[in-house]
Amino acid sequence: MKAAAFQNTFSWSKSRDELFRECHRKYYYDKYGFWEGWRRDADPERREIYLLKQVKSRRMWMGEKVHAAVENALKTLMGGAEASREAVIQELTDVMRRDFRLSRAGAYEGDPKRVTALFEHVYALPVSDEEWVRLHETAVRSVQEFFASDILKRARAAGIEHWLPVEEMQSFSFEGIPVYVKLDFAFREGGGIVIVDWKTGMGEDVDVTVQLGCYALYASERWAARPRDIEAIEYNLNTRSIKRVEIVEAHLEWARHYIRNSVQAMRKMLADPQANTARIEDFERVSDRTKCKWCNFRRVCLPDVTF
Ligand code: SF4
Repeated sequence: MKAAAFQNTFSWSKSRDELFRECHRKYYYDKYGFWEGWRRDADPERREIYLLKQVKSRRMWMGEKVHAAVENALKTLMGGAEASREAVIQELTDVMRRDFRLSRAGAYEGDPKRVTALFEHVYALPVSDEEWVRLHETAVRSVQEFFASDILKRARAAGIEHWLPVEEMQSFSFEGIPVYVKLDFAFREGGGIVIVDWKTGMGEDVDVTVQLGCYALYASERWAARPRDIEAIEYNLNTRSIKRVEIVEAHLEWARHYIRNSVQAMRKMLADPQANTARIEDFERVSDRTKCKWCNFRRVCLPDVTF
């Protein structure tokens, strides 16, 4: 039997929307230009775009490593074993060291999907050893904060049998479009559901309405939860700030309205919305070049510009 062709299908997520609003050209590279760049016989530019798609800044990388460490700890607890804080931190340290060394050595060139490519190495940015050490310390402190957090105590008190999926890509269908969400942690408590979103950045996400609305849409579809029974918590493990939001129907309505408009704007730019194909010339570069400084695609997009 012949295998079905691998398709670049259209979907929506909050991060896709952010990318689209940041720069149309960047969105094109990330969602279309990279396609089939994993093939050995792909043309060099496509392979380059595919490699650059995987590049992440050191802070993004640190956040991902903390999320992974917390996820592993929660999975261990869910499996009925005790998660040792020291063991989790040791593993985090080992993984960060290995990633750093491989990235510095440029090992991602041979396998960009599996080997971490840090923006600072790809673009040869000067970062002091002290800064890398501080980054690791922040990661460790964030994991320590997770273990000491009231939310973990509260979730344990609710009973692990009431814990819901942890860090698996989840989706629901909205007007025929798959919408992806990534709930970090959720559990049932009393008659309701508590959804937790871990953060590690220093900046405040000013408007979390759409993100929370998407979580609530997912929870209502997946677990038949009523909006008023959902409590969403944004927990910053780095700054120890906590935001709590009681979900109301208006959050869901706003999210639906937002997704609908965002999908329309994205699809309007496609060469063929049915086939989900795009032409680079339809996706303009952002006019504010300060946004390009930290863009992973600048090597293909603006090769002659010095930042
Ligand atoms: S370098 Fe600038 S214009 Fe080019 S894709 Fe990145 S953000 Fe957009």
